[in-house]
Amino acid sequence: MDRDAILLTPGPLTTTLRTKLAMLKDWGSWDAEFNALTAGVRERLLDIVHGQETHVVVPLQGSGTFSVEAAVATLVPKNGHVLVPDNGAYCKRAAKLSQMMGRRATVMPVPEDAPIDAAAVEKHLAADPGITHVILIHCETGTGVENPLAAVAAVCEKHGKGLIVDAMSSFAALPIDARKVRFDALIAASGKCLEGVPGMGFVFIRQAVLEGCAGNSQSLAMDLHDQHVYMAKTGQWRFTPPTHVVAALSEAIAQFVEEGGQPARLARYVDNCRTLVEGMAKLGFRPFLRPEVQAPIIVTFHAPAHAAYDFKKFYAAAKARGFILYPGKLTQVETFRVGCIGAIGRNEMQQAVNAVADALREMGIPSGAPAL
Ligand SMILES: *Cc1c(COP(=O)(O)O)cnc(C)c1O
Repeated sequence: MDRDAILLTPGPLTTTLRTKLAMLKDWGSWDAEFNALTAGVRERLLDIVHGQETHVVVPLQGSGTFSVEAAVATLVPKNGHVLVPDNGAYCKRAAKLSQMMGRRATVMPVPEDAPIDAAAVEKHLAADPGITHVILIHCETGTGVENPLAAVAAVCEKHGKGLIVDAMSSFAALPIDARKVRFDALIAASGKCLEGVPGMGFVFIRQAVLEGCAGNSQSLAMDLHDQHVYMAKTGQWRFTPPTHVVAALSEAIAQFVEEGGQPARLARYVDNCRTLVEGMAKLGFRPFLRPEVQAPIIVTFHAPAHAAYDFKKFYAAAKARGFILYPGKLTQVETFRVGCIGAIGRNEMQQAVNAVADALREMGIPSGAPAL
């Protein structure tokens, strides 16, 4: 096959040709043209969350996790204490990186197939007044469950706690409005729902807390306060910027705006998700989550019960047909995941279902139905 496989993975994901072509130019990191490119990207990112009046946005080199780590290092003082409601792998990662940086972290376990309950978060905050910040994963990409951002934000505001939101896989698709929902930091990245290429993250930081963040970070490279101060003064990134990634992101954002912004992107992903789930249901597959808690970002399916099923063989058979699937991330049940995001639409999702049907046939599996 001479075309790239369709990535049904939630980052890296399939990008448009226009986005890929934006990477064919070399940029000087000191050059005014590149500074203008960075400034333009930052302006439009703030527009997406309606944060011009309340927040700044600070970009950072690296994958999304680098920015989560940087946000915690920058926002949470060394003697701070974070509460991490945990319903999946990315929650566990946020708790772990907080602990590794020497911040006290309390994990609040929540079943993996249920959203976080804001009332339970409130109970924890009331019981332990030493907690300074809550870290919330907006869409837990490990399963695909959507957590209630607005309700948790309201609880944090009421109790005077900081809120750090990992909105990596939801930003630009699910609605987030900084005028209505108060957060101290919100993190996303280039290679997710904006449909850019991977290589940089960015963190929205509330202006009211920004100055108080000076000196919190134990890391030079991860200090978002310092990155912001330097960028405000010079227009430049502190260290070598991912120039081609910024150029691709700028072009990806232009297409996002042309498509109709967040509502249009959400509508396309909802349609992708519906096409996928309905098509897979006809083959016998069952999603791990109840439909009402499923975000239209990534769907976890139970593995087929049939003895001939093996994820590696299934993956290879789907790949041979041009589609890249994603392994499951649950420890208790065998699953696999299919992303609904990227520069793809209903046709690609239908073709993906056809590829899965062919893969099952090749493996001699009559139905995708899981064990009961
Ligand atoms: C993708 C993602 C991240 C970042 O993962 P990287 O592999 O570091 O890019 C963090 N949190 C969530 C919820 C994600 O979906």
